[in-house]
Amino acid sequence: MNKFSYIRATSVKDAVQRASTDENALFIAGGTNLVDRMKVFLDEPSQLIDISRLQMQRIEPIAGGGLRIGALVSNTAVADHPDVRRNYPMLSRAILSGASQQIRNVASVGGNLLQRTRCPYYYDTAFACNKREPGSGCPAATGINRMHALFGASDQCIAVHPSDMCVPLAALDAIVEVEGPKGKRQIPFTEFHRLPGNMPQQDSNLEPGELITAVVVPPVPFAKSGVYLKLRDRASYAFALISVAAAIDVAGDSIKDVRLAMGGVAHKPWRPTEAEKFLIGKPANAETFQQAAEIALQGAKPLTHNSFKVELAKRAIKRSLTVSAKGGGVA
Ligand code: SF4
Repeated sequence: MNKFSYIRATSVKDAVQRASTDENALFIAGGTNLVDRMKVFLDEPSQLIDISRLQMQRIEPIAGGGLRIGALVSNTAVADHPDVRRNYPMLSRAILSGASQQIRNVASVGGNLLQRTRCPYYYDTAFACNKREPGSGCPAATGINRMHALFGASDQCIAVHPSDMCVPLAALDAIVEVEGPKGKRQIPFTEFHRLPGNMPQQDSNLEPGELITAVVVPPVPFAKSGVYLKLRDRASYAFALISVAAAIDVAGDSIKDVRLAMGGVAHKPWRPTEAEKFLIGKPANAETFQQAAEIALQGAKPLTHNSFKVELAKRAIKRSLTVSAKGGGVA
């Protein structure tokens, strides 16, 4: 690690003011990804602004339904919250499928959104990496890339976003609340993370000095039957090769509404909106779900080692929709 100063912020305003006057400062809450990165010199902050004691640790109901989840609520507290388990089981299951109990106990909601890719070349400083050092190259493009992107990659970076929690939050059309030097604003979840383009070093659309204060999950009544399916190399403590968050609202014989998002396929949680549009009004059966899966993967651009993920994703979508249509549960 480099030498850095440590300060405990006394309020959100204090944290924002400190961050906006030092471009090399970083916020720290749980630190479960940041400290790992600092140990291998991926991040060398001038100061760490500890926000972990700020008042952003509550889960509150919002008018009209839905929940406002403070940015410092632990992943465990979100997953175990009775309203989350009852109304958004895909969110609870996604969180419980990630990391370990110990990590989930300290990892925060805001930090989960800001965790960085687990591309092995990014973490190994013996290799070049455009995300670590812009313009240096992307060894994953010609190297081992079985975990990498199917959608939205660029010639600069083919990494994927690693979060499980963010996949259902994208499906549920959550809103990210932030506060920065210019005041407060809200960012639709699907616009919070960005594709790599020619700036792979930037993962999100946060402005300098902005701090995530909460995530608002709107009411989605049929999300009670939502599912999260994660496919990975090991049964635990592994990142997704493919994951799917799906919730379907069936009225009579036809599909009234649907939410679908994929993880492990892009630099951000991936929402296959054409597949969602296709599903509306169709009969909720295996043929429809297969067609939706085909549509969802239409624009996929597999790499040297990850073409298997195309079929894996189709099967995961079909299975997730089938289980949700039957009322939900473990997919
Ligand atoms: Fe770096 Fe992105 Fe290439 Fe991985 S995929 S080596 S993170 S530039």
